[in-house]
This record gives sequence, structure tokens and C-alpha cells, in this order.
Amino acid sequence: MNVQSNLDEVRKSIKSGVKLVAVSKTKPVEAIQNAYDTGHRVFGENKAQELAAKYQELPKDIEWHFIGHLQSNKVKYIAPFVSLIHGVESIKLLKEINKQALKNNRVINCLLQFHIADETTKFGLSYEEAEELLKNPAFATFKNIRIVGVMGMATYSDDKNKITEEFRTLRQIFKKLKNEYFKAEDSFKEISMGMSGDYQIAMEEGSTMVRIGSAIFGARNYNI
Ligand SMILES: *Cc1c(COP(=O)(O)O)cnc(C)c1O
Repeated sequence: MNVQSNLDEVRKSIKSGVKLVAVSKTKPVEAIQNAYDTGHRVFGENKAQELAAKYQELPKDIEWHFIGHLQSNKVKYIAPFVSLIHGVESIKLLKEINKQALKNNRVINCLLQFHIADETTKFGLSYEEAEELLKNPAFATFKNIRIVGVMGMATYSDDKNKITEEFRTLRQIFKKLKNEYFKAEDSFKEISMGMSGDYQIAMEEGSTMVRIGSAIFGARNYNI
């Protein structure tokens, strides 16, 4: 498995303006360093302690993204340095991110995660739940977080039409939120969607950020 040539191939297939997050979860620091040596700087992890350990070992100009489900009690491990938390879906988690960001004298960028797939195992909000969250009086007091967009995962499927529909739904959610809650905020502009198996479709449907793991680093030893 050659990380550098895989990364090269993937890079060639990414539309201009779309950010590539190389998802290095479960992979050793050597593999990340290999990718880093080609000039890549944006990496994604889904376990807070694993991310904090890798942050310590690797060059400090890496832009670290947390992807997937974050537990409130783990926020403290990544708050000092994380660039973007994909996948926020509760006021409780936002409250904790705000608290830890304040402690570190930072503003932490976050994406709201939406449930667009069939699988009930996947996390995420409905539009109504997102509205509830945004209208919660506590939300307006969180000065150390910035919601910069949305994130979602399509159903794991070979059905291209189905995946297209799900990504299209996320883009519509993004537009509606932008109009109704973030009109004046230029920083609300990200749609994080697309993984190794479906990022081409995601880019066609307006993704601004793709999260790609196995196509770069090879298969993982366990199912996420
Ligand atoms: C693991 C993971 C990815 C990357 O998945 P691949 O199929 O390996 O590209 C993307 N997003 C999230 C939230 C993940 O957990």
C-alpha cells in the first residue's frame, strides 16, 4: 500500500475548491508522515485520545479535523489544537466545546451533523432538531464556537441514485439553514460530504470538503 501514490491519485480526482481531509484513523504516524511529506496538511481522526497522541508526535502545522461522533467528556483532549469538529449534534456537546475553547482562548469551528442515510446506526440531526438547537437560548451565549456548515454520511450502498438523493438533501438543508440562520455569516459555507466510496457523487452534489480514508491509507482492520 503506497500512501503517497494513492494520495496523488485521489488528489487528481478532487475538484478545485474542494478540501481533501485525509482520514488517518487507526493508521500509524508513519503513514501520516508519508502523506505529510508530499505536502498534504489536512488530516481527520475519529477518536479524541488517538488524535491528541498523533498531534503530539507529528509536525505542528498539520490541520487536524475531528470527524464522527465526539463524546462531551473527550472534548478537552482536542480543544487546544483541533481546527474543525465535523459532526456536532447536540447542545450539550456544543456547550462543552464552547467551555473548552474558552479555556484555551480559542474559537473552535464546528459542523452540524445531519442524518441523511437510511441506517439508524448513523448519527445526526433532522432539520427540526437543528432548529431547536439553534433557537435554544443557550446557543447564543456560546461565543467560542463557530458553526461553519454541515456534515453528513450517505447510506453505504451501490445505489448511485440513492446516494445522490441523500447528498442533495444535505445541500438543501445547508441552503435552508444559510438562509434562515446564517445569512450574514460568510464563514457558514462548508458542506462536508463524501468518503472513499462516494466522494465523486458528493462533489457533483456540491460538497466543499471530502473525508477520504481507505482510498489513501488502505483498508482498516475494523469496520467503523
Ligand atoms: C472513517 C470515516 C471516513 C472515511 O471513510 P473511508 O471510507 O475510509 O474513506 C469519513 N468520514 C467519517 C465520519 C468516518 O468515520
